[in-house]
Amino acid sequence: MPDLKKDVKYVKGVGPNRVILLNKLGIYTLQDLITYYPRTYEDRSKPKTLLECQDGEDCLIEVTATSKIIETRFSRKTMQKLMIRDQTTAAEAIWFNQTYLKTKIEMGKKYRMYGKIKRKLNKIQITSPVFDEIGSTKNTGRIIPIYPLTYNLTQNTLRKIMENAMIEVYGKLEETLPEYLLKIYKLQNINEAIKHIHFPEELKDFKIAKNRLVFEELLITQLALLSLKNKEMLETKGIKFNNQHKIQEITEKFPFKLTNAQTRVLKEIEKDMESEKVMNRLLQGDVGSGKTAVAMCAAYKAVKNGYQAAIMAPTAILATQHKENFDKTLQEQGIKSELLISGITKKKKEEILQKLKQGEIDILIGTHAIIEDNVEFKNLGLVVTDEQHRFGVRQRNKIAKKGQNPDILVMSATPIPRTLALILYGDLDISIIDELPPNRKKIETYAVTKKMQERVDNFIKAQLTQGRQAYIVCPLVEEGEEAGLKSVIELAEKYQTQILPEYKIAYLHGKMRPKEKDEIMLKFKKHEIDVLISTTVIEVGVDVPNANIMVIEDAQRFGLAQLHQLRGRVGRGEYQSYCVLKYEGNSETIRKRMKVMSDTNDGFIISEKDLELRGSGDFFGTMQHGLPEFKIANLFEDMKILKQVQQIAKIIIEEDAKLEQKQNEKLKTIVNQKLSLLGTGTL
Ligand code: ADP
Ligand code: MG
Repeated sequence: MPDLKKDVKYVKGVGPNRVILLNKLGIYTLQDLITYYPRTYEDRSKPKTLLECQDGEDCLIEVTATSKIIETRFSRKTMQKLMIRDQTTAAEAIWFNQTYLKTKIEMGKKYRMYGKIKRKLNKIQITSPVFDEIGSTKNTGRIIPIYPLTYNLTQNTLRKIMENAMIEVYGKLEETLPEYLLKIYKLQNINEAIKHIHFPEELKDFKIAKNRLVFEELLITQLALLSLKNKEMLETKGIKFNNQHKIQEITEKFPFKLTNAQTRVLKEIEKDMESEKVMNRLLQGDVGSGKTAVAMCAAYKAVKNGYQAAIMAPTAILATQHKENFDKTLQEQGIKSELLISGITKKKKEEILQKLKQGEIDILIGTHAIIEDNVEFKNLGLVVTDEQHRFGVRQRNKIAKKGQNPDILVMSATPIPRTLALILYGDLDISIIDELPPNRKKIETYAVTKKMQERVDNFIKAQLTQGRQAYIVCPLVEEGEEAGLKSVIELAEKYQTQILPEYKIAYLHGKMRPKEKDEIMLKFKKHEIDVLISTTVIEVGVDVPNANIMVIEDAQRFGLAQLHQLRGRVGRGEYQSYCVLKYEGNSETIRKRMKVMSDTNDGFIISEKDLELRGSGDFFGTMQHGLPEFKIANLFEDMKILKQVQQIAKIIIEEDAKLEQKQNEKLKTIVNQKLSLLGTGTL
């Protein structure tokens, strides 16, 4: 059996320089190497005649060299030209700075070449082709894997290394999946799968291989999450909050009546809290559905039981907003909360840390700063993380370790279809708020093209005149990053000098310092700014009730879920709110996507549609972090396998929670590998 853990430097063809390059790709061991999968493939196995090749097409041709290499010299460049022909016509091949070709190519010999074809008038040219003498299949004559690469490492080099690795492992890899799964689900064995994912002989080979590898990856992830959930449920004793302090005590103090959905999820949460098991619950609810109130109730209950609560938000501004909201209701109940963000003074920070340890603070609200090692609680009983997609399993664990098995509530405003929720949050129970508070006005949404620019500007002006504020969001940060897209700064200037000179315009983007960003956001909140031009950094739950217009530039660039998140920044107050989606392009898909946005305000419907209509998996535009990383699976393309695997995982865990049966031995090994990657302790 090959030693998969051995350093990649011992693989044939890997020298000291190449090790560094491989490490940059995250490849340290032989195992990392053979599981570094191709991004795509080039079929260099089917030759075309010169006349068949189209302009711009990558083609394989079989030709005879009808000249020697002719070299011409420019200032610093050289160009190598070769006359070629096949049975249909004559053509030329050109390269740049490849002087050595003079000795490689001989007139009269036959070659296979693969490269991009240019056709102008009746001249045919192939540029910088890779080639072999007929008979060799080093570069041509087969399907070639294309890897995601970094600078300085070429496809040829990595391919050669991979070939050496295959010689080393092929036929000797130990099967990772149990026999019974391979049989029932007709999966390819590991040796064939690894070989064919790198070097398929025919295109269908790689599909079979990929199917097996995706199956394995998804199954292991799902099993790991389910077993984690099981383990916490069965083995870990949590805090049993008593039932004398009912959540209802505090909901009576709210200035509004809870929605039915809020009441229902609060019951689920209260039941968890009063039971001995550790709560690990995901609270999903659309933007504006009132998750903060729910978090506050849970915190209230924890504090009334003599415990502390921690509320973690992704940005300082959100944390500050939570702090204000909590104080409004909880201060008069004698509950003390404090804010821990990076912006506070050192002295204040030390004071907070001190009081926290002594138990003089009931609720600590903050950003990532809360996870830092020096933050110690006296008796942490509840952890709430807001907008969870910014945090991963690992961070969730880290904060939980600050208490003795505290209850955990994870809040997310990204509505996710069930199948995805199961693989993203498979270790959690799920509560859903599927109802908005009453009397919310639908955000009127219009999809418009550039031609309407002036009308849009007039519309913004009319609302500003009435004292409202507006957001304008664009997809990019810097000037000219990509032709045709407006940059934030450019646009802000234009609005300030030409379109709305009598109003205060400001801009915001991700490359500004956090403190600068917060200052701008605060000014906007206080209405010292009328129009805020921004990248997507404003997407998370900031509340500015007076802002009622959201204009999104180049809306076709965003995923639907992200558009929905952005739109949720308005409609948070008493005013009728509007969202204007400015888009370009008239493909069917773009139009359909825009229509979905104008037709509905329901995040769950939008996320389902997003999956249906997705352009490039951009559903996760809003959820970059905290996602399990997949080497080969793609949650969208592989949805069918995902569904299959979820059923299988459920059955396996129901029958053999700890994977102790003989037949599941192999699964236990790989699940444990996965769990230790998650930093959660193994089965
Ligand atoms: P999100 O779920 O996006 O975090 P918030 O908790 O910020 O939503 O709530 C949005 C707004 O709705 C807040 O101003 C909040 O006070 C208000 N709100 C919450 N629940 C209700 C309710 N049941 N009735 C009326 N308003 C509510
Ligand atoms: Mg919120």
